[in-house]
Amino acid sequence: MNYNTLFLDRDGILNRKIDNGYVLKPDDLEIMPGIKEFLYWANKKFLQILVVTNQRCIGRKLLREEELWSIHQDLNVQTGNFIDDFLFCPHLVEDQCACRKPGEGLFLKAAENYAVDFSRSWMIGDSISDLIPAKKLGMKTIYVGAIANDYADFILNTTSDIHNVFIP
Ligand SMILES: [Mg+2]
Ligand SMILES: [Zn+2]
Repeated sequence: MNYNTLFLDRDGILNRKIDNGYVLKPDDLEIMPGIKEFLYWANKKFLQILVVTNQRCIGRKLLREEELWSIHQDLNVQTGNFIDDFLFCPHLVEDQCACRKPGEGLFLKAAENYAVDFSRSWMIGDSISDLIPAKKLGMKTIYVGAIANDYADFILNTTSDIHNVFIP
């Protein structure tokens, strides 16, 4: 198998990012275009599909961890149940933790629990802080966004184009 682990950012990749706010209940989830179809394909090609997401809404006490888990369960069902795990950073920026992206903590934690080979793994995100740890760990990166940068191997305008990176 050429592909090992598919790492995905959550907000802006799986579900639409809420401007100046947070997903606080399952009803806030709006699945991004092409994602369900892409995950259907990726599930057959990747050993595991893992979400790595910063959720400081937990640290800000806007959401409890149980509620976050239920949102993630709903998100998984809505996208076809192909996601093996959700790893999240609950901390605030000022906590200076190792897991909040651009830190590598969530990826390293994933590698403790799954057979991760970073050299054959991919990270897809809509923020530069998703790409920085991925590049540091030697992964391929896909960036969905408008800021030119050196961390992205592929820069896309929309999540509908992700599939084309793998199947030209
Ligand atoms: Mg994002
Ligand atoms: Zn953290």
